[in-house]
Amino acid sequence: MHQQAKIYVAGHRGMVGSAMVRRLQQAGYHHLVVRTSQELDLRDTAAVADFFAAEKPDYVVLAAAKVGGIMANNTYRADFLLDNLQIQNNVIQQSQIHGVTKLLFLGSSCIYPKLAPQPIKEEYLLTGPLEATNEPYALAKIAGLKLCEAYRDQYGSNFISAMPTNLYGPGDNYDLHNSHVLPALLRKFHEAKISNAPEVEVWGTGTPRREFLHVDDLADACLHLLRYYDGREPVNVGTGHDLTIGELVELVRETVGYEGRVRFNTDKPDGTPRKLLDVSKLAEAGWRYRIELADGVRDVYQETFQPMIG
Ligand code: GDP
Repeated sequence: MHQQAKIYVAGHRGMVGSAMVRRLQQAGYHHLVVRTSQELDLRDTAAVADFFAAEKPDYVVLAAAKVGGIMANNTYRADFLLDNLQIQNNVIQQSQIHGVTKLLFLGSSCIYPKLAPQPIKEEYLLTGPLEATNEPYALAKIAGLKLCEAYRDQYGSNFISAMPTNLYGPGDNYDLHNSHVLPALLRKFHEAKISNAPEVEVWGTGTPRREFLHVDDLADACLHLLRYYDGREPVNVGTGHDLTIGELVELVRETVGYEGRVRFNTDKPDGTPRKLLDVSKLAEAGWRYRIELADGVRDVYQETFQPMIG
């Protein structure tokens, strides 16, 4: 990817897109194109067609999506399916029509079957039923990566897909109804500490296992794939390590310095029992994560909740 390349980062206001913009700029790519969702509604086919005709980007990073945690996915099921299909259909189709050199589509580890063998290899896709809580989102993402494969097959387009594990980092969503578990725990423990609350409520049993990747590591992996990976198959992006929600709760509790009780509310859903990606394909492509979970959580806590310190 030459330094003068014109790169469109779709979704640059989001956690992934903003990390991608920072990483590209650090690496000396300054010819970036971005639009807010107010400026360009990616669900609007005509608007997206006009945008591509006017800008003609060389590279596209498709990090725009409607996203959320277990509760949001399960509540806004129709929106998660339809908005994501519309966004990705428009961007992928226009990228082919306007001769984009390479496109990177960002999926998610929730595309894999609920009971997939662990760690999850890319080839386990479509071998079993999906987790019910986020099936609409997962179906949209599966359609997106299959559309990239179909464009490669039919038109020879160099469209690749990355499947990141659970992400965290600067710019995360801290709304307790919509967020993922890590930002939710940071906020709950921080607020409980400040207000001297005797107890923090955590959802589910604490036994599900999850893997977490700092979004700066994801952005670095994406740049690596844009430079060096031209394969048809999607590539998992993670650390290859996981922990239980109970262990994560303990890590966040210690990071925040909260000393009250923790109560597991088993009326709330657990979701998939385990979700650990097999990252050997990414390792073969020459990439490994750098930011350990404890370090990343400490940095995010300081940056987000203690902006006066450090
Ligand atoms: P998932 O990875 O798609 O299941 O999405 P989440 O990150 O939302 O949830 C991961 C796990 O953390 C599930 O087992 C949740 O029940 C559990 N969890 C515990 N406390 C919370 C919380 O406060 N918010 C969220 N979103 N999940 C929580």
